[in-house]
Amino acid sequence: MDGELLTVGTELVLGLTVDTNAADLGRALAAAGVRVLRRTSVPDDLAPIRDAVRSALGRTGLLIVSGGLGPTRDDITKRAVAEVLGKPLHHDPAILAHLEDLYRRRGIARMPDANRSQADVPEGATVLENRWGTAPGLWLEDKEGRVVVLLPGVPAEMRGLLEHEVLPRLRKGIADADAKTQGSAPVVRSRMLRTTGIAESALADLVGDPARFLPPSVTLAWLPSFDGTDLRLTAWRLPGAEADAALEAGVQALRPKLGAVCYADGETDLAAVVLDLLADKGARLATAESCTGGLLGERLTNIPGSSRVYRGGVVAYDNDVKLHLLGVSSETLAAHGAVSEAVAREMAAGAARVLDADAALAVTGIAGPTGAAPGKPVGTVWIAVRWRDQLRAFTHVLPGGRDAVRRRAAQWALDYLRRVVTGVV
Ligand code: AMP
Ligand code: MG
Repeated sequence: MDGELLTVGTELVLGLTVDTNAADLGRALAAAGVRVLRRTSVPDDLAPIRDAVRSALGRTGLLIVSGGLGPTRDDITKRAVAEVLGKPLHHDPAILAHLEDLYRRRGIARMPDANRSQADVPEGATVLENRWGTAPGLWLEDKEGRVVVLLPGVPAEMRGLLEHEVLPRLRKGIADADAKTQGSAPVVRSRMLRTTGIAESALADLVGDPARFLPPSVTLAWLPSFDGTDLRLTAWRLPGAEADAALEAGVQALRPKLGAVCYADGETDLAAVVLDLLADKGARLATAESCTGGLLGERLTNIPGSSRVYRGGVVAYDNDVKLHLLGVSSETLAAHGAVSEAVAREMAAGAARVLDADAALAVTGIAGPTGAAPGKPVGTVWIAVRWRDQLRAFTHVLPGGRDAVRRRAAQWALDYLRRVVTGVV
């Protein structure tokens, strides 16, 4: 099945809001087997929305639209699409009752009048219930069977409707078509291997020429970020079962070349990998963070279920906190400075002790742009890992601005913990 995406919002074309919906939609639709051929963004104006819908429907039978379904005057997507499809808007009392109920349950006695327009529905539309907000999604079909799906712009609402209402319907459509063609309808599917702690160019040396070991229908994409380089394998236009088999063969051929720099098969965050490793050993983790200021804690607590492993952390930004909460000695601080191997080690040991943990991570560094000292340029970071009776320390001079240094430091810290626990340092 082929399709197109349209995102509506003046803020999107002005670059004031990053179009995350288009990215989320593209990923989800490709995974479901839709070949996305184009994506377009237009401002909240009738004519551009109408033009975009009309021309997309001239090319494809599936158009997913997000944005402009809100209750305010700039939200006109529904009207524009209804005009193109020649479907008049009707007032739907069931939606109005649902909206009024929603407000009552939020403790607001009277729904604002502006919300009433959200109960207007183009004739013949299927209403997709929005459990995450007020604007329902709409599924429209024209006489030729072309489908236009309208979704709200608020990213959490868009994602909720996409996952629970739109993808199941599309998958069913694709499965029905698949049954007709006995599973031979082509899909586009991807798998990802994640690496960290290695430069993209060094990784390229490890991998060599992908054409020599990947199945012919599988391509390899290199996706570098502060956190490492993800390697995405994509099988193009194969029947579903063949795509899965080709991807599995690709992963089997690629993974051994990567060795210990590969930490995940799939979208898993390194923090989740580390938490799983520690959970398997029944171990508990504590953190002591200076230059990362809580980033490690954020990464760890972002993972559902992290509380079975993560005890907590101390953001030891000021030296007083390192001294009094973590028990770093004033002699060590005076002799070596806060950004030093000795202080990192004492921070990790202190965190394990005061937070009663088997594993501890400590980070101290100079995130910049100021703070460099002789022999300690901006980007200097010391990371200490306490794991049972081991206490190891590592250093890097990390490239980039303040944000890059902090994010890279957090990623290196998690990776060193992974490496120490699995014995691959
Ligand atoms: P709307 O449904 O157009 O009223 O949008 C509601 C909120 O969602 C606004 O804050 C928009 O900036 C945001 N939003 C709309 N479209 C997108 C998009 N494509 N990506 C990310 N945020 C969006
Ligand atoms: Mg809008």
